[in-house]
Amino acid sequence: MAKDYYQILGVPKTASTEDIKKAFHKLAHQYHPDKASGNEAKFKEINEAYQVLSDKNKRAQYDRFGSADFQGSQAGPDSRGGFDFSQFYRGEGNNGFNINFGDFGDFGDIFGDLFGFKNTRTNHKTSNQGRDLEISIKIDFLTSIFGGEQTITLDKLVPCPSCQGSGSQPGASYSTCPNCGGRGFINQVQRTMFGSMNTQTVCPTCEGEGTIISQPCSKCHGEGRILEKQSLTIKIPAGVSNGQTIKFTGQGEAGRRSGPSGDLYVKVKVQPHPRLKREGDDIKSTVNISFRQAALGDKIKIETVDGPVVLKIPPGTQSGQVIILRGKGVPKLHGYGRGNHLIEVRVITPTKLTKEQREALEKLD
Ligand SMILES: [Zn+2]
Ligand SMILES: [Zn+2]
Repeated sequence: MAKDYYQILGVPKTASTEDIKKAFHKLAHQYHPDKASGNEAKFKEINEAYQVLSDKNKRAQYDRFGSADFQGSQAGPDSRGGFDFSQFYRGEGNNGFNINFGDFGDFGDIFGDLFGFKNTRTNHKTSNQGRDLEISIKIDFLTSIFGGEQTITLDKLVPCPSCQGSGSQPGASYSTCPNCGGRGFINQVQRTMFGSMNTQTVCPTCEGEGTIISQPCSKCHGEGRILEKQSLTIKIPAGVSNGQTIKFTGQGEAGRRSGPSGDLYVKVKVQPHPRLKREGDDIKSTVNISFRQAALGDKIKIETVDGPVVLKIPPGTQSGQVIILRGKGVPKLHGYGRGNHLIEVRVITPTKLTKEQREALEKLD
């Protein structure tokens, strides 16, 4: 069950932004972990509620879906997997450390602890990370069954070949940032409703790097990465089905200045086969046989994913009967073995008969 954020803050659903803010301040004051009356879990819950209800868009979404799971509401595939605190509490448009609490900025330091944003270094890593990429491709039916390779082209940020991703002009040197002394962050004393507090913010001079480049690379302007059209040959696993997504770790955008790369997510669209259908790990098809073949039996050639196969029709086969070819289905995606190929036999009843044929058939009764 989703939490009732209104109840947590003790406000009606119709509460104004101002009321919500007031309620939050009162409760935050009461449950602040540094206080004798403090309660960290409660405090966290209050904050969570406030983060949602104080944001017009988030509140509207919460009202509509009754959930704190804002999956899909955030840009980029980073939001996959639902509610991610690190994403949620991080302000937008900065590199992650200036936690954007809105009115809650007073508590910056405390939340740094609660959510693991203690120092810039940990954070810094994420801010340098390249973004994930998502594309979709079409593959043919047999490639989905047996796997294969496919070459894709995509525009993505790749490490700058000129500076090997460092962002520094070849031969130029790094020096310690004079603003932060190489720490990547600066301390600030803030006066808050609870008294003075030390907060740390990312150093604006070096953007958290701790070092500054004396001469940025002229090709990438110090980013360490450039946009390029790239051809990539990817492996399609055997047994992949329509709509599935394959993850290629580290094949997303290159990180800033040799930061870690994002991942590549490839969504697969399987083109249908004109005669073979897939159902789970099984393949299904139909075959038409004559009345004579049904009655007397026969050997006929049929199409399978492995190519043509001779199928034995036993004498006395009924229309609608299914013949199973074991192990001629789809290889199991995670494991061994294959599904089966199920062939539905349809007996075609003759519509025009010669006199001799008619007499022969009449004898059957
Ligand atoms: Zn460069
Ligand atoms: Zn600095």
